[in-house]
Amino acid sequence: MRVDHIAIAVNNVEEALKNYQKILNVDRLEIEEVPHEKVKVAMLELEDTRIELMEPTADDSPIKKFLTDRGEGIHHIAITADDIEKDVARAQQSGMRMLGGLRSGSYGRRITFIHPKSLNGVLTEFCEAPPKAEAKETLHENAK
Ligand code: ZN
Repeated sequence: MRVDHIAIAVNNVEEALKNYQKILNVDRLEIEEVPHEKVKVAMLELEDTRIELMEPTADDSPIKKFLTDRGEGIHHIAITADDIEKDVARAQQSGMRMLGGLRSGSYGRRITFIHPKSLNGVLTEFCEAPPKAEAKETLHENAK
């Protein structure tokens, strides 16, 4: 297993990007809107993980609520392994409280969340590992 990404709730993705680019050598950067999650996401690809900056795109976005309650900051960490079904089954068997079932997140990858109460106050996402061939394809696209 590895940390797929660390997600940070921000008020404005473009403004936050300027900050993070001061300290990170970003190999690759993608910005995407995820309408059903009501967020705009910037994925900063680092050598061995990513940082995901998330901005709410609607007042009823869960990220909006997070920002109102707590302000900007770390929102969740995401763990990936080869078999997400197995990870979810193991978590459920161990009594972890899941937040909804498997659904599609950014970049069409399947995700689900574990409630922070089950993991010492940290909202934790399981996400599907990207197919290796497709990952290479994307890298190639961006290298052009
Ligand atoms: Zn995430």
